[in-house]
Amino acid sequence: MRQLELYNSLNRKKEIFTPINEGHIGLYVCGPTVYSNVHLGNCRTFVSFDVIYRHLTYLGYKVRYVRNITDVGHLEGDADSGAEDKISKKARLEQLEPMEIVQTYTNGFHQIMDILNAKRPNIEPRATGHIVEQIEMVQEILDNGYAYEKNGSVYFDTLKLAQSGKGYGKLSGRVIEDLISESRDNLKNQSEKNHPSDFAIWIKAAPEHIMRWNSPWSVGFPGWHLECSVMSTKYLGKTFDIHGGGNDLKFPHHENEIAQNVGSCDCQPANYWLHTNMLLMNGKKMSKSDNNSITPQELFTGESEHTSKAYSPMVVRFFMLQSHYRSTLDLTDEGLIAAEKGYKRLMEAFKNLNGLTATATSSDSDLEKEIITLIEATHADMNDDFNTPKALARLFELVNKINGLKDGHLDIAHVSTSALDGLKSLFNDYIFDVFGLLDSTSDSGNGNGVLDGLMSLIIDIRKSARENKDWGTSDKIRDSLNELKIQLKDGKDGTSWTAD
Ligand code: AMP
Ligand code: ZN
Repeated sequence: MRQLELYNSLNRKKEIFTPINEGHIGLYVCGPTVYSNVHLGNCRTFVSFDVIYRHLTYLGYKVRYVRNITDVGHLEGDADSGAEDKISKKARLEQLEPMEIVQTYTNGFHQIMDILNAKRPNIEPRATGHIVEQIEMVQEILDNGYAYEKNGSVYFDTLKLAQSGKGYGKLSGRVIEDLISESRDNLKNQSEKNHPSDFAIWIKAAPEHIMRWNSPWSVGFPGWHLECSVMSTKYLGKTFDIHGGGNDLKFPHHENEIAQNVGSCDCQPANYWLHTNMLLMNGKKMSKSDNNSITPQELFTGESEHTSKAYSPMVVRFFMLQSHYRSTLDLTDEGLIAAEKGYKRLMEAFKNLNGLTATATSSDSDLEKEIITLIEATHADMNDDFNTPKALARLFELVNKINGLKDGHLDIAHVSTSALDGLKSLFNDYIFDVFGLLDSTSDSGNGNGVLDGLMSLIIDIRKSARENKDWGTSDKIRDSLNELKIQLKDGKDGTSWTAD
């Protein structure tokens, strides 16, 4: 079988993957900043890494998957100082505790990831839970001479790192001189920095800033980039296998993360850097701050002005799988409609496949050879930097064969039992384990067969109650469901339901 190759953003090429410890992988993925609901763009990145995690596990690796929750330090406009913390600001505006904001949106994030059938990471550390370790890393960087203190804030000395020969800018391909001129005009608080490309690793809190901790330098809070350096080191070691995130994080977040690790322990944090590309809408990056975003809930309920109808979570997941994680993906109604058709066709073929039985112990037919070649090609595509669109295209070539065998165009006598078993395993393993799809074709699309069964039973009982003018029972059903945050919608085609 083709060896696993990954596109390593650090070296800008595909490389054969070799883990540090045989059979084990340390995987760190930058998680969400929990100050608002995730939009579908965020979901695309997390679903991409879910497929990567699932495939690595499928290959037999024991993966330690760490994905953080950013709950402090991420400033408005991704600034590194002189702006307000996103969570602090939301807490101030809504007059809530910052941790209430964090909890609300962490819960919401988990709920959406569960609905999209993304596996939870093994460790989900929070930045605020690692303030002590962050202060320690700031001290190490200061002790090594790669940082300096000004008025209670501590800044990373990028020029010093660049001049030391250890490098700054390799991941993003930026040259320090360009950075200095590029950022001279647009960064605030220049007066405190020695060079415009320097960045804050500890920030003295302004009086109105709610989230603050004691430190040797000031009562303040850590810079955004620091948490990922600290938490990846703590849970995966100073150098680990794979670091991931959206490609908008390459600079400054990941570049600065590398600088901090080099500055504190003289080590490169990750051997392979994987970056996902952006989900677009109207040809532009989906982004909440640009008012160009859609939430997964809006898509699942059909409430968005951008789409003509509702799409089930599994259709949305399938839609994402149809493009490579390093390509942009444009969210369009036509694309989602096509994904819905493709998803149903794949699930239908899976059922047809399970209804097939072969009796031939061996076969040298062309059909047998084609099936075996396509099975191998699917594995090879996934080992070629997780090429989900190519692997799906192979499965659809096999769908044609399966449907041909079912309707008699192709002869099952030409397929051996071992080839058919191989085909069944391939479909089962890839559709459910690697691609992480669930079969929601025989239910309302909410992705949970048992719940759907129960809901249609309840809807039937309510319908009979209404026909019998038993308003007490029908109102009780609606009210009790509302308490469970399940809403019924009566339409001309019957009653449907949605859950928050
Ligand atoms: P944030 O909560 O802003 O820190 O973002 C969480 C993750 O979502 C990061 O890995 C971002 O790179 C990613 N992300 C943000 N916008 C998009 C988008 N339009 N498409 C794909 N990923 C995105
Ligand atoms: Zn990060």
